[in-house]
Amino acid sequence: MTMPRGIPQMIVGKKYPTITVDEKKCTVPFLCKKCLQICPEIVLSVGRVMAKEKRLEEMDPRIDGNYVLHAARSEKCTVCNRCIEVCPVDAIKIEL
Ligand code: SF4
Ligand code: SF4
Repeated sequence: MTMPRGIPQMIVGKKYPTITVDEKKCTVPFLCKKCLQICPEIVLSVGRVMAKEKRLEEMDPRIDGNYVLHAARSEKCTVCNRCIEVCPVDAIKIEL
């Protein structure tokens, strides 16, 4: 697409970073939450994977994969990299 002169590329382009979390490394985010606690913009969130809890065991935050970390508000991310620095398993990747 050819842009008219004078219109900044950022108007048509994506203006916020892409945040990905390696779920193989971040297995029990509900117990860890280090990145959530340090993020000044409240970008990250932990959610339950199960749609409906059938048994208490399925809600147990100590069991791998029952909860997952995701960037709920990536548009607020300032790329300060604090979450990356605090993560003990190097699970977070941020791309501009
Ligand atoms: S880079 Fe900074 S603002 Fe972005 S998610 Fe991590 S801690 Fe939050
Ligand atoms: S700090 Fe790392 S291991 Fe802990 S919840 Fe965040 S992404 Fe997962």
